[in-house]
Amino acid sequence: MIITIDGPAGSGKSTMAKRLARRLGFRFLNTGAMYRAVTLYLLRAGIEVSEREKIQKILPEIHLEFAGENIIMNGEDVSLAIRSQEVEKHVSAVSSLREVRERLVELQREIASCGDYVLEGRDTGTVVFPDAFCKFYLDASVEERAKRRQKELSERGEYHDLDYLKKEIERRDKLDTTREIAPLMKPPDAVVIETTSLSPDEVEERLYQEVMKRRGEL
Ligand code: C5P
Repeated sequence: MIITIDGPAGSGKSTMAKRLARRLGFRFLNTGAMYRAVTLYLLRAGIEVSEREKIQKILPEIHLEFAGENIIMNGEDVSLAIRSQEVEKHVSAVSSLREVRERLVELQREIASCGDYVLEGRDTGTVVFPDAFCKFYLDASVEERAKRRQKELSERGEYHDLDYLKKEIERRDKLDTTREIAPLMKPPDAVVIETTSLSPDEVEERLYQEVMKRRGEL
């Protein structure tokens, strides 16, 4: 069974996908981590987004797998490295490339088709699994999303100005929603949850209740 959670940066998708998966006994797949890992690989290799031929050629060299919640790229745990501001800055441009999306969507379908999964990302309900059992779309105000990001970064010892983070989120939202291929959008059949004034426990409860209702277990 497949459940998808899409939404913009900072809407709480990762936290909720993890919580919901744990509660249902499903596995969870963070598709954003995969786009971040490819971005990290290109940055390290000094390859620009405009160098399409080079990118096409090196994509098969990037081997991605998950070990629990960690993402492993060619044998290296890159879970922390993919969270850097440098990756954050370039990931939307990299994820707008057709060849990158085709490869990662194929991999996501391969991984998730062998079990019960909660997937989270930008296009998991629209493109990756349009026939998913249950689709969610999480949203929150830019202010709230920037605050969440600031908290997450400060827990890692990094301080960033709130206005700067707001601008970064707005820039990423714009790129993600206006790109030609698989732009971020609400799947027409998704349950939309506005999380700005909800606690994580409240959001989790709504997701869980919806799934249970559809499974006929309520
Ligand atoms: O969710 P997260 O912020 O980690 O995603 C990082 C970036 O990866 C997004 O800003 C978006 O550009 C890209 N992404 C995507 N499609 C997905 C998941 C993430 O294009 N399914």
